[in-house]
Amino acid sequence: MDNYTKAAEKIASADGILITASNGLSITEGLNLFANDEKFHRLFGDFVQRYGLRCLLHGMASRYENEERTWAFWARLIKHYCIDYTPSLSMKKLKEIVGDKDYFIVTSNGEGHFEKSGFDPDKIYEVEGTWLDMQCSVPCHDTLYPAEKTAEEIAKNEDKGTFPAELIPCCPLCGAPMVINMGAGQSFIENKRAINNYREFTAKYKGKNLVVIELGIGRRNTLIKAPVMKMVANEPGYFYITVNKGEIFIPDEIESRSIGFDGLIEPVLVSLAEAKNNLN
Ligand SMILES: [Zn+2]
Repeated sequence: MDNYTKAAEKIASADGILITASNGLSITEGLNLFANDEKFHRLFGDFVQRYGLRCLLHGMASRYENEERTWAFWARLIKHYCIDYTPSLSMKKLKEIVGDKDYFIVTSNGEGHFEKSGFDPDKIYEVEGTWLDMQCSVPCHDTLYPAEKTAEEIAKNEDKGTFPAELIPCCPLCGAPMVINMGAGQSFIENKRAINNYREFTAKYKGKNLVVIELGIGRRNTLIKAPVMKMVANEPGYFYITVNKGEIFIPDEIESRSIGFDGLIEPVLVSLAEAKNNLN
């Protein structure tokens, strides 16, 4: 039996599916936070000139001279990569693979693509925050507020980093400027609801059959990969599928319950969805 069929069978007989993902998946979808390429310069050429930005991640981590510039950067980013996003082939195939199984998604990607691809927001935990929520910059309270409409309005009115000042969102309690959740730095507020949902999911599948599908997470990732591999090691009913070009890492203790696909995410998901459809 080939590995795709074996993986498809494991998924078919699983009680639930845990999807974990990092920037390898985003890159597959055409969003490369590290690239200093033509696409980046086309979108942020003025920011490159003014601030010497080297890539999107540099822009996300930068502190600008005022709220207007900060929001101009984020609004343009959100408009381009979230609001104008249409589900990629990888996301469509992943949905096919999950089918009607119960699932949960843990990701360090914050661009909301899982949600935009039709996955349930209550089944997604974005560990490093999201681009689609904002919070008080102080923060004086720990509520997350939807940011998409604000970002869209700013992006519509923004030109070369400038837009009407009244569009800058302020905290409803203390009046301080709001910041995008993932860009809040030291003030970052964790999504307690998502953390709780993830806890409930892992509790529910303790002692059961769970398949982990890991997409594009670097081999030394300690935020998601290491703890999930440990969880698999502790649960004999768990099975681990990892997809990563040139960076497959499976510890010996879970090797007999693992499959590594050393390849690009999109063609692997296409083949896996096909193997699933061929099972019956
Ligand atoms: Zn506040």
